[in-house]
Order: sequence, then C-alpha cells, then structure tokens
Amino acid sequence: MAIPSFFDLSGKTALVTGGTRGIGRAMALALAEAGADIILVQRNTRDSSTRDDIIDLGRKCRIVLADLSTSASVSFVIPDLVSHAEMLPNGGIHILVNCAGIQRRNPAHEFPDSEWNEVVQTNLSTVFTMCRDIGKYWIENDIGGRIVNVASLLSFQGGINVPAYAAAKHGVMGLTKSLSNEWAKHGIAVNAIAPGYIATDMNKDLQSDKERNKSIMDRIPAGRWGNPDDFKGPVVFLASEKASGYINGETIVVDGGWMGR
Ligand code: NDP
Repeated sequence: MAIPSFFDLSGKTALVTGGTRGIGRAMALALAEAGADIILVQRNTRDSSTRDDIIDLGRKCRIVLADLSTSASVSFVIPDLVSHAEMLPNGGIHILVNCAGIQRRNPAHEFPDSEWNEVVQTNLSTVFTMCRDIGKYWIENDIGGRIVNVASLLSFQGGINVPAYAAAKHGVMGLTKSLSNEWAKHGIAVNAIAPGYIATDMNKDLQSDKERNKSIMDRIPAGRWGNPDDFKGPVVFLASEKASGYINGETIVVDGGWMGR
C-alpha cells in the first residue's frame, strides 16, 4: 500500500514564475513531485523542458506566456486564468510561487534608469501584481491560499554594484510581511524563501571567476555553493497544509549558514 506523503499537495494547483531554469525549475518539479498540478508563467513556449518533466511525473502542466519585466504583460496573467477557473486543473489556483528574477550589476553612481526599472519591475512590482491579483481572487471567493516569494540575502543586507536588486529584494520582504498581516484573516499565508549563493545561470560569472569564487566559498559555512534542489523541501513545506497557515510573514533562509556567521 502506498504511504501518503506527509506534505501531499494532490488536488492543488500551483502557479510558478521562473520555472524554466535554476531555482524556479526545481521548485516547480518539487511541487509536482508532491502531487500538485502546475501552471508555469514564462516568456516563451520554446522552453518546454520543465513542462515535459512535470507531465512525466504524471501531473498536469500548462504554460502561460508573459514577460514579467513588463507591467502590461503581467497584469493579464492571473485575471485571465481565474476568469475561467473551472477550466484550470483542480478548478483553481491554490499556491503562488514568485521565483522569476534578474540581476544587473553596475556601480550605483552609473546605474542606468533602464536597468533600475527592469530590475525593480521584474523582482518587485511583478511580485506585487501577482500577489494582489491572486489575493483578490482568493478573498472574493473566500478561499485561502499559499504564497511563496523568493527573496535573497540581499533582502537583509546591502551589496556592491547591486543597488536595484538589493532595493527590490528588501521590498519583497516588506511586501511579504505586509500581505501576511493583511491577509492572515482570510486564510492566506504569505512567506518567503531567501537563497544565499546558489549555483545557477544568474551568477555563473562569479562561479567562473577563480578569485571571487574562492572568497565566496571560504565564507560559506557549508563549504559549497547551494544548488536548486536545496529549495525543494522548503517550497513544498511552505505550500503545504502542514505549514498550517499559522506560519505567516516568515522567511526560510537557505544559505549554507552564511547569515549565521
Ligand atoms: P536564473 O537566472 O537561473 O533563472 C531566472 C528565472 O527567471 C528564469 O526562469 C527566467 O526565465 C525567469 N525570468 C527572468 N526574467 C523574466 C521575465 N522578464 N519574464 C519571465 N521570466 C523571467 O535565476 P535563479 O534560479 O538563480 O534565481 C531564481 C530566484 O532566486 C530569483 O528571484 C533570484 O533573484 C533569487 N536568488 C537567486 C540567488 C542565486 O544565488 N542564484 C541568490 C538570491 C536570490 P528565462 O529562462 O526566460 O530567462
């Protein structure tokens, strides 16, 4: 007899951004492994490897196209989906994971407006729009839900050449806490996961720079870069009923001990 998973997500549908690569892909697969059907919000349909892997796991998966650096594109995503909620797997959306993000590095005194706007839009304003629209749907239909926002070590500290990214990621924390305060009474839990140094495309320049790589490795108590699979347990836990909804406005830091030093 199959033993039911402690963190069973069957009967739930999770909408995940940033699922094509890196941490978001691992999170989408983990939610599917736990039983959830998945809606991936991504820039193009060419990249279907995450969807194919989710379907191989026996789950349903739909791709919705949106450029998350453009408010006009983001503003249609959830309203369009929930206007035909009965057509969605499991009749709705129960979990929202905001993982898509970008990083642009430039000295603050030379940081271009265009990059500032792109980083803040993708990493913060889009997260707000997605949260607001799913929250409206959950509150108006009197159904609770779970939101997991992906923050960063730079939600807690500053950095060199990353003014927009650090500002946006600090904003994600403020947003997460504020929404948890406002929506707890509606049965909505809004939490965050803050990655440390994780080996993905986002920082392959740092990984390949011998000197910088060594100084990063020397500072990580775990003695290694994180990898996307390190996020599978945390996201499934926060998305599950076992997180009880009483964990709200909280952040799980996944950094190999960096913050504890
Ligand atoms: P990757 O660069 O590997 O992946 C980024 C993801 O975001 C991709 O799926 C990408 O899609 C998507 N994305 C970016 N811009 C857009 C856009 N305009 N529209 C749609 N999708 C977009 O990054 P990570 O996996 O490393 O990062 C995931 C999250 O974790 C981010 O929020 C990041 O800030 C955060 N983080 C990562 C850290 C790390 O060390 N890696 C450290 C701290 C936080 P596409 O494939 O189309 O480009």
